Amino acid sequence: MSHSNRHSDLLARRERAVARGTFHIAPLFAARGEGALLWDTDGKEYVDFCGGIGVLNVGHCHPRVVAAIRAQSERFVHTCWNVAMYEPYVALAERLDELAPIAGEAKSVFFNSGAEANENAVKIARAATGRQAVVAFERGFHGRTLLTMTMTGKVRPYSAGFGPFAPEVYRLPFQPFFAAAGAPDEEVERECAAALEHLFAYHVEPESIACLVVEPVLGEGGFLPIHPAAFRLLRETCDRHRIVLVADEVQTGFGRCGALFACERYGIAPDLVLMAKSLGAGLPLSAVTGRAELMDAVAPGGIGGTYGGNPVACAAALAVLDVIEDEDLCARAEAIGERVRARFEELCAERAMLANPRGLGAMRALDVVDPLTQAPDAVGATRLLGYAQERGLLAMTANGNAIRTLMPLVITDQQLERGLDALAAAAGALAAESATVGAEA
Ligand code: PMP
Repeated sequence: MSHSNRHSDLLARRERAVARGTFHIAPLFAARGEGALLWDTDGKEYVDFCGGIGVLNVGHCHPRVVAAIRAQSERFVHTCWNVAMYEPYVALAERLDELAPIAGEAKSVFFNSGAEANENAVKIARAATGRQAVVAFERGFHGRTLLTMTMTGKVRPYSAGFGPFAPEVYRLPFQPFFAAAGAPDEEVERECAAALEHLFAYHVEPESIACLVVEPVLGEGGFLPIHPAAFRLLRETCDRHRIVLVADEVQTGFGRCGALFACERYGIAPDLVLMAKSLGAGLPLSAVTGRAELMDAVAPGGIGGTYGGNPVACAAALAVLDVIEDEDLCARAEAIGERVRARFEELCAERAMLANPRGLGAMRALDVVDPLTQAPDAVGATRLLGYAQERGLLAMTANGNAIRTLMPLVITDQQLERGLDALAAAAGALAAESATVGAEA
């Protein structure tokens, strides 16, 4: 059977053949990607502010990553780590043990997805502590498997209708931990301490908690950086009660926040750090790196899997680490973030429907709100991004009404300006539309 590659035909085939439950930010089919640019099947060019949802910090098809994938795939594509070991797995573990912000000796293990990294961090923490409870945050996102869906602190669309959920998962409120950057330390510390006391008094005793899992910057939850005083208090609290502190750096990692790991920006050493997304530049690869004595608590056979640490994915990740270092992408993230911050502040000053510019490094966001009430406007955010797409920018929301930036860090200044100009023009179009609707009403 021959198929047409016309967009309308592809869309019709997608609707007939693929389950409805996977979402799309736009009805778009990719034809080619290079750096921070993506072309669709109609030949339209986009500046890509999504990067495959934070996966492409080194860009689409970085030549060094493609070369590493090609070279490894010509030797062997898979053996299963459990059947025959291979050097790229060991080399990547050595690199991450060295680079991860872990205090003392570190070890690593590899999986396929961010969700699997979270699942396995919980298993490691339980094995190491002999405890069962897991603490996570409202508005946190950790994946779509049973345990990670339970840990994820947002009901729709992630957990509604999918219960019963995994037991022994407890939750902290996102406020005051993710308080605005300017909030005074003492106030944040006092409120966070009260929230922790409340958790320990009414929900779960600290002696039963295996681990506390936190994203240094809430990703899906709206690009809110944790307040430095809150992060310090979490570290102290975990130390006091021997709770394993797990940093989920799946979205914040690999240069996005202006350092290889966002934890470094805070000067906090977690016990376990979780990686996925930009680690493999598009190949499915995730990692748990942590304090050696915790990592070794699991007996042989207790963790792993058929594909975890696939050799082609490990080869890609080694090339990613080289590229980040050689092209100085952490510093580049900071420069990109500075430019986006300035532009977002201007946009928010210009338009009452844009508010709350925020972020860390190149992980930045602003909110689309009702201009009169300042209430979140998710419909407006989606419309704004539709207008942006017409103008050649591919971008996405977080937590409904936040516009987030996950552009490849190899983006050129000129491409970055093009993307930001498209966003500004889209905001203008949305404002004009709202004014017309207002006039008609
Ligand atoms: N943790 C965080 C912080 C994430 O942002 C995501 C994905 N958006 C995940 C975990 C889950 O990763 P995956 O989709 O690879 O399972």
